[in-house]
Amino acid sequence: MTGSEPLQVTLLGATGSIGTSTLDVIGRHPNRYTIYALTANTNVGAMEDLCVKWSPDYAVMSDERSAKDLADRFQGRDVKTQVLTGEAGLLQVVERDSVDCVVAAIVGAAGLVPTLAAAKSGKRILLANKEALVMSGKLFVDTAKENNAVLMPVDSEHNAIFQCLPDCLTTHHSSVKIANQEAEVGIERIWLTASGGPFRSYSAEQLHDVTPEQAVNHPNWDMGKKISVDSATLMNKGLELIEAYWLFDMDIANIDVVVHPQSVIHSMVTYVDGSVLAQLGNPDMRTPIAHALAWPERIESGVEPLNIFDVAQLDFEQPDLDRFPCLRLCYEAIKMGGSATIVLNAANEIAVAAFLDEKIGFTDIAVLIEKTLDQAVITKDVSSLELILEADAMARTITNKCIAEMH
Ligand code: NAD
Ligand code: MG
Repeated sequence: MTGSEPLQVTLLGATGSIGTSTLDVIGRHPNRYTIYALTANTNVGAMEDLCVKWSPDYAVMSDERSAKDLADRFQGRDVKTQVLTGEAGLLQVVERDSVDCVVAAIVGAAGLVPTLAAAKSGKRILLANKEALVMSGKLFVDTAKENNAVLMPVDSEHNAIFQCLPDCLTTHHSSVKIANQEAEVGIERIWLTASGGPFRSYSAEQLHDVTPEQAVNHPNWDMGKKISVDSATLMNKGLELIEAYWLFDMDIANIDVVVHPQSVIHSMVTYVDGSVLAQLGNPDMRTPIAHALAWPERIESGVEPLNIFDVAQLDFEQPDLDRFPCLRLCYEAIKMGGSATIVLNAANEIAVAAFLDEKIGFTDIAVLIEKTLDQAVITKDVSSLELILEADAMARTITNKCIAEMH
């Protein structure tokens, strides 16, 4: 790395939790990384501060109003950043030849189009936006492969698994394929660890009454609101199951979820010789981000070293699919195939937003997803972006209708 030009990074979702952690790591290595573009939804104040600090070539805001507001704030000041708008702006800062690396950290379906564009443009992609992969599955991994994109998982579990895989699987591939390997890599199963969220030991009655404020308060990880609610319902683990299925080309029967409340083991791989490899560390997303940025090298991330004596104890439990039906629904959606995971993801996004808005209760989230999966037409062909977006839109309409009927 020494002596070469810094990598040009486009950071999608710069104002979020992953965005903030990414900038913290990048700031520690100015010789390795330069910020080419930062993007955000509508938080103009936060973006103004970031542009002043990082001086990116471009900033992208979701709508005209926020973009104009941001550009106005740069008037007469020594800020070189050009402001772009909407999907066209996102595509521009992803596809440019000068961009080496795209960090996909927009939350939800909104991240799909630019993340897929990064795959098509053959970039190094740091994938945090799991919803994009859940929606586009095969299309996304095939597109990455065809265009020699390098797909680095940032989600801590998938990053941990990546770190526990043999070099022959990770070195020469733009995406890892565990199944159908010629080499005898001997991988038997992969384990996704789950913290169990803030309501791990709640009864069904207690779950009924939880508030948005309680749900966004995760015991181990500091994250955006949507993923915090997903962690509380275990939908996050279900989405990660689907993510692992696509990323590692692994039969779902060979992927296990284990509740591990300390969140110190970030995931594990079991080999045929009886070895189980695990990646451990403090629960801080700067570790997987630093790994994904620098791989195959390693860089300092700012994360405190793990004090194994302070941890003292590691616990493991089976997940409870009755109290946490969202995880069960994810297994079912994978089995249904076709557009089912797209429908599930869309219904979840609408339901979580309604819960955060106090329009529905916590346990209604799973009820609404199940209703939407029942009512939606599950289509087989999801091989194009258009078909994926169609299935997504149809599911959102159904979930919204179901919410309206509840009132
Ligand atoms: P967040 O809510 O903190 O940040 C989301 C970012 O996306 C913000 O910059 C926001 O401005 C932008 N954004 C939101 N809606 C948008 C839209 N419609 N158009 C354009 N930009 C939009 O979320 P987060 O916790 O940083 O999570 C980001 C992604 O990373 C999610 O997909 C999440 O599942 C995944 N992830 C997060 C963590 C974590 O620790 N936070 C861990 C693993 C995976
Ligand atoms: Mg995760």
